[in-house]
Amino acid sequence: MNDNTAIISEIKRLLGDEPKLAYVRSFGCQLNTSDGEKIKGVLKNAGYGFTEDESEADLIILNTCAVRENAEDRVFGIVGSMKKLKELKPELIIGIAGCMTAQSHVAEKIKRSYPQVDFVLGTSAINGLPRLLLDALNGAGFEADITEYDDFSGTVEQVRGSSFKASVPIMFGCNNFCTYCIVPYVRGRERSRLPEDIVSEVEGLVREGYKEIMLLGQNVNSYGNDLGGEMTFPQLLRRLNDIEGDFWIRFMSSHPKDASKELIDAIFDCEKVAKHLHLPVQSGSDDVLRRMNRRYTAEKYLGIVNDIRSRDPEFSLTTDLIVGFPDETDEDFEATLDIMRTVKYDNIYSFIYSKRSGTRAAEMPDAVSEEEKGKRMRRLLEVQREISTEFYKRFIGRRMRVLVDDKAKKREGFLTGKSSEFIIVEFEGDESLIGRFVDVEITGAMNWAVTGRVI
Ligand code: SF4
Repeated sequence: MNDNTAIISEIKRLLGDEPKLAYVRSFGCQLNTSDGEKIKGVLKNAGYGFTEDESEADLIILNTCAVRENAEDRVFGIVGSMKKLKELKPELIIGIAGCMTAQSHVAEKIKRSYPQVDFVLGTSAINGLPRLLLDALNGAGFEADITEYDDFSGTVEQVRGSSFKASVPIMFGCNNFCTYCIVPYVRGRERSRLPEDIVSEVEGLVREGYKEIMLLGQNVNSYGNDLGGEMTFPQLLRRLNDIEGDFWIRFMSSHPKDASKELIDAIFDCEKVAKHLHLPVQSGSDDVLRRMNRRYTAEKYLGIVNDIRSRDPEFSLTTDLIVGFPDETDEDFEATLDIMRTVKYDNIYSFIYSKRSGTRAAEMPDAVSEEEKGKRMRRLLEVQREISTEFYKRFIGRRMRVLVDDKAKKREGFLTGKSSEFIIVEFEGDESLIGRFVDVEITGAMNWAVTGRVI
């Protein structure tokens, strides 16, 4: 971890007394959003305030996502449109961060084609941001820093988007190399944070009044594999559960290949761990799972589900599903619908396969038409609607503890929140309840949420 103190005070000197504003926009997953909060932490430390309007900004940082090709195209479009802003305000500084930058051809393309960009910052190089910023303020010209700083020893200040829900990365990178996924190539190998750093960060957040802690990792189940057996993920859950306070612990994502019995035990034993598991299955077909390099079969996956459901038949499960993987047959697709009907997910996050250059799947032959993939996606959503319309009825008459998130979008005087089961709950209530736990008696069910009244 390099000492940025001198650089930060030099930046403050150059910024002078007039407040300078930064616009930081993060795309993609929760881990990237958490990185965006850290980037804001570094900028706040350097004396910047923040704006949501890029035309007001003195500094713009786009924190990018590379999970799909069109996500990248969209960012290049936005960067292109910022040429005008720079012409109007030549001292404006523009930086590109996030997963796109970890691909060497991207930094080259930006340097060559987007002269309005001052620097590129890699996914693990947030600690290099002060240096890049100072150089840009001094007009040093285009720079790229995609160094893998070990900048997660201890905690980095984060400017968080919520005052009651906090995301806490516990590890970075991924060793799984699913054939459709670019993440291992842009986020590197798995590195776990030290347990004591995570514990002290969560203790600090609970002291500040945070009600929900979301532990983040590409695959939290392999947490600690690189710590010489110091601590496993289920052990970390139990350690965090011992922290005094009234809060919930959630985590994302859990790869089925190493979702252990110890993990299930910890979920059921720890009262602070939310009673919901997001277990991405991706497909119900063993042949597709093999070609995805997911390293489990549908049977193994259902074994985990049966273990959970033998303890609580109505335990809340959600998943990720890819439709239209190269050469997915009708039988493969039917196997996916079958696993949905067997598991009964409360919700699914579903995607039509998107070819991502640089991945192995991008080289695979694919005879399935886009039209057929679209048809399958509609069928999949239909099946899920049937399942959740029925399954959500189980909550009627129940008393559910809900963390109030916000005002309901479409109903005046109503609030929305999530239960421990990660179910959306809508009810009448005053905005002063936002950020607090309330008990709600469930009186109605839709296929995407339940309704009730505060008791
Ligand atoms: S587990 Fe697979 S899908 Fe998830 S980040 Fe790693 S390679 Fe990508």
